[in-house]
Amino acid sequence: MSRFSILKSGKEISCPQCGRPTRILINGVCPECFRRENPLATVPEKISLKVCRICGAVEVPSGRWVRRDFEEVVKTVLKGEVEKRGEVKAVDVVYDGGDYAKVRVYGRAHDALPHDYWEEYLVKVERKSAVCPACVKLISKKEEARIQVRALHRALTLAEKKMIKSIAESSLTRSWEKGRAAQPIRVEEGEQGIDIVLASREAARELVSALSSKMFFDVLETSKDVGIDESGRGKRRVTYRLLLPPFREGDIVEYKDKVYLIKRISRGRMSLFSLGNLSETSLGMTKRAYRDVKTLAGLKDLEEGMVVSIEPPYVMVMSLKNFESFEVKLSGGFDSLTEGSRVRVFRHRGKTYIVPL
Ligand SMILES: [Zn+2]
Ligand SMILES: [Zn+2]
Repeated sequence: MSRFSILKSGKEISCPQCGRPTRILINGVCPECFRRENPLATVPEKISLKVCRICGAVEVPSGRWVRRDFEEVVKTVLKGEVEKRGEVKAVDVVYDGGDYAKVRVYGRAHDALPHDYWEEYLVKVERKSAVCPACVKLISKKEEARIQVRALHRALTLAEKKMIKSIAESSLTRSWEKGRAAQPIRVEEGEQGIDIVLASREAARELVSALSSKMFFDVLETSKDVGIDESGRGKRRVTYRLLLPPFREGDIVEYKDKVYLIKRISRGRMSLFSLGNLSETSLGMTKRAYRDVKTLAGLKDLEEGMVVSIEPPYVMVMSLKNFESFEVKLSGGFDSLTEGSRVRVFRHRGKTYIVPL
């Protein structure tokens, strides 16, 4: 294939191509000429990708549509189109959304070349507007399912809304990849909560189960007849009402006249930490719990204190807000306290409670 020779005894000759003096000849020319005539890679001058103007999905060369950032898809596709020549050690694509992407290739065209180097290629990026198959299906569809997310006796918090939207995003993307019409027809965000309106009952069911696996909801499913479809079958519209409990992790609550901290809520149960005897217990997330567990405060809003002395059944605590000391009576849990340890202080109906930190 390629021949190269190093001239002995430090002799130099003129490159037959450019006339410059050289000690090395590769395929009969100097290294610079060889490099110029032998790029590290063959890179297309242009790539052209279809982008769905409804959901933003991008069609990749295999014909599949993917829901990823256009910039990311351009980089991946371009990397796949680079045909390496010579000894290539790295291929890097720089693209941030303009008309051109830059492909950078590192290596050397021949191992007789003295060192590795970067080469850059500009590639024109063409973005063609289209509608992906899932959205074509969707355009002709009507509301088949509605998911209503609410919380009992309170509005959804910002953190909850954010979490719901992020779970919805990934679950609907998975459904969409299975070919379902999973793009929401509408997302209605109001003071009360979030409604997600879908054209696919399967996608809705998958989303409800994804949400329920990450957060605890009381789920109520109802459906109603909404006429007859083209094939003469009865059409049903299903509504899922997902109700978050009135209380959250980190809440100080009252339940059956006792005071607890909710440590965790998961899979239908909550772990309660009793502020009466500093021990853990658990409670099923039932309709009754929804009704009877009353939120009193949030742990993070409570003032801090420090344990000064322990003389069962009393613990002496000093407030770190005003440095006043006070007594707390406990029916157990002294082992979990040491002098000098930090606690949160909660006062309710004339009694004082502490939560070890
Ligand atoms: Zn030359
Ligand atoms: Zn689409």
